[in-house]
Amino acid sequence: MTQRVIRALIVFSVIAAFSLPIYAWDETGHKITAYIAWQRMTPEVREKVVKILLTAPEDSDISTFYLPYGSRNVESRKREYFMLMATWADIIRDKAFPVRVKNYDHGDWHYNNAFWKFEKGGVVMLDNMPKTGLAMDKLADFSALIRSSAPDPEKAVAIAWLEHLIGDMHQPLHASGKVSPSTPEGDRGGNAFLLTPKGTPRDQQENLHWFWDSIIARNIPNNDKCDADYIDPIAQEIMRLFPAEKFKGRLLPGDFEAWKKESVTFATTEVYRGVEFFQTPSDKYKKKALEIAQERMALAGYRMGDIFNEVFGTKQSVSESTIPCKMIRKVMYPITKTSSVKQTLEIALLDLCPTQVASRPMYSFMIDGNMVMKEYDVLRTFKTEAEARKYAADNKITDVSF
Ligand SMILES: [Zn+2]
Repeated sequence: MTQRVIRALIVFSVIAAFSLPIYAWDETGHKITAYIAWQRMTPEVREKVVKILLTAPEDSDISTFYLPYGSRNVESRKREYFMLMATWADIIRDKAFPVRVKNYDHGDWHYNNAFWKFEKGGVVMLDNMPKTGLAMDKLADFSALIRSSAPDPEKAVAIAWLEHLIGDMHQPLHASGKVSPSTPEGDRGGNAFLLTPKGTPRDQQENLHWFWDSIIARNIPNNDKCDADYIDPIAQEIMRLFPAEKFKGRLLPGDFEAWKKESVTFATTEVYRGVEFFQTPSDKYKKKALEIAQERMALAGYRMGDIFNEVFGTKQSVSESTIPCKMIRKVMYPITKTSSVKQTLEIALLDLCPTQVASRPMYSFMIDGNMVMKEYDVLRTFKTEAEARKYAADNKITDVSF
């Protein structure tokens, strides 16, 4: 056996021996998301992404996980490798590999909590709490890095993190810190919200964060099946229930802030409704939670695939002249360079040919089936879709999608 194969076997046996702590969608959730992304990626992009992953620094073990042999065909092995790499950010938490932990593990990169509380039956956002978790910063950093001229080994690490963080930020409890008298600094994404009876020993406690992280695996137990027999059919069923067409206009390509906002909305409207401290969630709650989780995983997968297609695909040359100067889209508003919880998702009239361009972030828009990076200004916002459509009709704006 080559040294590489021996190392791979050691890595795999260690993973099998330790049940890794759960910090986000668990392994099942992340692999499902990556499976869906893979289906969306073009064959060319799949090749390119795997090729870059294999250039990763040796101490990251990213390349070690690819097994260049086996009975399965090459395409399946590459897909499974890509799926496994969506869990790499959790794999590297394993303390049995202290150097890897030191070089790569970052517990606070997996979430970014917006703080809020229930008050008089409503939800109050708390904007002045200290920042918790760097997931949003890292999404922006890695998304810029894979577009830059950085060397491939750096891009490999960035791809693995992106695969993971895109999934994490679609888990509503990775974006939420619920404040209450018993948790004045937030409940750490539901980790402090116990679902087991009062007095349950610590090692047997279950909490709301765990409930959401492990939702698929608890509803559909694995029973020792391999990924191809377990993950793939689940992911296919999720794609059937939530096809990409269903999200038309809601994919909001590359708009990490908007994706997080959706998670925050779920956290404040659904996740804490109908569930009580120290009580097992009802069947009704479980059903609704599963549905939301599946939708979030589907969205995360499509969005992940789109990012890799956009960055690593052969750029379709969209003639500048075919890009309209004015179009109507949903964007986070007001536009800011940095993230702000005060932004809201608004239907807006955009100017893609602004004459006075302030320092705007670049944003990718789907125009005529092509992803185009553009700077833009917001000329005005609309209160309703109907108002926007009427404005479009009156002003001959043809590119309208929400
Ligand atoms: Zn995570």
